[in-house]
Amino acid sequence: MGVRDRKERKSMRIRIDKSLCNGCETCVNHCPDVFMMWGMYMKAVFEVTHPEKYQQRVREAADLCPKQAISID
Ligand code: SF4
Repeated sequence: MGVRDRKERKSMRIRIDKSLCNGCETCVNHCPDVFMMWGMYMKAVFEVTHPEKYQQRVREAADLCPKQAISID
C-alpha cells in the first residue's frame, strides 16, 4: 500500500506478535491511549485512528518493547 493510500485511510495498523510478547506492559505504560485497548482485548492486530496524534508514542513503545514484538504498518 502506498503513502497516498495510507494517508487516505487515516489509520495506523499495529501488530503484536503474541508468541514473543511477555506481557510486561511497557507498551501500555508508555502509550496507554493506544495499548490499553490492546491489553484489554489481546488483539494481535488493531487499527489506531488519528495516527498523526499517536505515531511518535507508538514508535517509541515499539522501540522500548523488550521482545521487539510490536510492528507498525
Ligand atoms: S512491551 Fe512488548 S513484551 Fe511488553 S507487553 Fe508490550 S508487546 Fe508485550
